[in-house]
Amino acid sequence: MIYPIVKYGREVLEQPGKPITEFDGSLEKLVSDMFETMYAANGVGLAAPQIGLPLRLCVIDVSVGEDPNARLILANPVIVSTEGEQVQEEGCLSLPDFRAKTRRPQRATVRAWDLHGHEYTMAGEDLLARAFCHEIDHLDGTLFIQHLGRLKRESIKRKVRQMIKAGEW
Ligand SMILES: [Zn+2]
Repeated sequence: MIYPIVKYGREVLEQPGKPITEFDGSLEKLVSDMFETMYAANGVGLAAPQIGLPLRLCVIDVSVGEDPNARLILANPVIVSTEGEQVQEEGCLSLPDFRAKTRRPQRATVRAWDLHGHEYTMAGEDLLARAFCHEIDHLDGTLFIQHLGRLKRESIKRKVRQMIKAGEW
């Protein structure tokens, strides 16, 4: 099932998610729906708040469906360490059509639980490090525009407000 993606302005995107405690069939179904929703939107990551669920759960696939081994499920993830720095264009499915150069670590190590409640640790570089940081931010109610300079952020917010007014958001 493909969920509608919640856009910037909705409260669920700016509140911290609740931890996942049940690793059962309904989590499996939710994760499968999240992948389906993410692929349909051509995204490399999707966090539960983006489909309106305030949960600490996200999925990532930096291969965009090309490599089955690139499918990552992160329940209750935390960033345990970061290294270096990269500045690249970043976007978000909840802020469609807005992209901006965003500073992120070059390398990030995360600890998370998989679908079966087993804890794992994984390091990522480049786009994967960026995806880890971006998606885990979502679980804390933070959007990538929080990492931009104030002027850039305000300009995006203003455009969104205009689009909301015009019924285009
Ligand atoms: Zn996002």
